[in-house]
Amino acid sequence: MADFDLAIIGGGINGCGIARDAAGRRLRVVLLEQNDLASGTSSASSKLIHGGLRYLEHYEFGLVRAALREREILLRAAPHLIRPLRFVLPINEARRSPTLLRLGLLLYDWIGWRRILPGTRELDLVTDQAGLALKARFHHAFEYSDCFADDARLVVLNAVDAAERGAVIRTRTRCVRAERSDVWRLVLNARGQRDVITARVLVNAAGAWSELFAETALRVTPPRRLRLDKGSHIVVRRLFDHDRAYILQAADGRVVFAIPFERDFTLIGTTDRAFTGDPSVVLPTGEEIDYLCGAVNEYFRTEIGAADVVWAFAGVRSLYDDGARKPQDIGRDYALILDERFGEAPMLTVYGGKITTYRRLAEHALARLSHFFPHSRPWTAHSALPGGDFVYDGVDTLVERTQRSFRFLAADHARRLVRAYGTRLERVLGTATRLDDLGMRFGADLTGAEVRYLMTTEWAQTADDVLWRRSKLGLRLLPAQIAMLERFMASPPGGAIA
Ligand SMILES: Cc1cc2nc3c(=O)[nH]c(=O)nc-3n(C[C@H](O)[C@H](O)[C@H](O)COP(=O)(O)OP(=O)(O)OC[C@H]3O[C@@H](n4cnc5c(N)ncnc54)[C@H](O)[C@@H]3O)c2cc1C
Repeated sequence: MADFDLAIIGGGINGCGIARDAAGRRLRVVLLEQNDLASGTSSASSKLIHGGLRYLEHYEFGLVRAALREREILLRAAPHLIRPLRFVLPINEARRSPTLLRLGLLLYDWIGWRRILPGTRELDLVTDQAGLALKARFHHAFEYSDCFADDARLVVLNAVDAAERGAVIRTRTRCVRAERSDVWRLVLNARGQRDVITARVLVNAAGAWSELFAETALRVTPPRRLRLDKGSHIVVRRLFDHDRAYILQAADGRVVFAIPFERDFTLIGTTDRAFTGDPSVVLPTGEEIDYLCGAVNEYFRTEIGAADVVWAFAGVRSLYDDGARKPQDIGRDYALILDERFGEAPMLTVYGGKITTYRRLAEHALARLSHFFPHSRPWTAHSALPGGDFVYDGVDTLVERTQRSFRFLAADHARRLVRAYGTRLERVLGTATRLDDLGMRFGADLTGAEVRYLMTTEWAQTADDVLWRRSKLGLRLLPAQIAMLERFMASPPGGAIA
């Protein structure tokens, strides 16, 4: 008998979503991630749980409708990680006609299956607070709803849930060889240690690496179905004083988002450039940074330039190219290709997808494999992710409750912990009655207790795992504080600097 029913390559949102869904159906699952969870594209997105207003221009109504429906399903499943966000779309007649925009937004609202999120309205920018940050020539705007998520934590919490349902999650474990017979025999390299496991079914959820995986581990020449596109973001100090985002129509016809981020910052993105090469080595270029600053400078009173950028990151979208369409028409939907051969173990390859549609993608992946795993039923549409078992608008109440139970926590600290851990924050804080009970302090309210929790429960191994994927405290810690964190993580629990 094979060691596992399902082996999944890739610890991004799609791999972890499939692992969670499959483990909840009582399948024996192993997930292999060569680096940290969410170290690929899934931590470099614009972090929107959205239908994608601009995909309406490409007539992708099916994708938009399905993605819009996921917004409220995910918001209810993870109200700590996901929050409703209103978008201000300043009217710029030189770019798109207001009538066209109004019709697009009507359609967005109409197909949007909204129970929670409010609909579109028009704004007078002369009187509305959203106008204060903008240049005086913008008089009117539309305002509509989507959601914003912590993309990397969404990945990690899917992995946590999968593990609690029995899945084996192996990070820093690269699958270097996949040999096919009646089962899959997978050769793994875990930081120099060789290991071999077997599985009945293989899922290639390696995202932008999926063809590279086919070439190097499967040793086949894959049909060229992937198109890779690079997208970059920049983060600057806060550009405006409210909690709505802006969607700006750029000069090249694209849209650029300016989103309130981590309380004191604004996240600006994205670009869209054809990409070839190794997706592990992807950085924003000066030209992309100038492009994003230019889009902001056209609309905002405060001018920004490269010197104002406090953080920049890039990721690679993998888009499914069925060969039938022109590059600009290649959609953002996903494709699941099942490779079945008589007498040989099957393989499912995941192409494309979005953070927004990962849950549905996982459900479809399991449906594609249903003849191998009968008696399994979809279950994720009404099930909370770890810590998300509270009402969708209950963050403020949970913050208040937390401050009553842990009186030593400052308001911002309590809110950050609620946003990250939801109802599980008590597992992070334990029986602490004073801040000192939480151990070492690294700066920006990060404590030893939290880091130990992340190491034991969420597979964090390095300072980067903690500072950029389990949190965004990398925006706040100084180099000396990061060095202290590195030393702490390298020391055994209970050791001299624990
Ligand atoms: C700039 C940009 C903005 C975006 N904005 C949004 C947005 O706002 N909303 C939205 O819904 N979507 C957005 N997306 C899309 C979304 O981010 C991606 O669709 C999604 O993250 C893809 O997830 P994935 O799991 O397929 O890939 P990844 O997250 O890249 O995961 C694949 C993983 O496979 C691992 N791997 C590869 N080879 C091996 C191997 N041999 N062994 C073990 N592990 C291996 C890699 O290390 C990687 O971690 C955006 C994408 C980009 C690039």
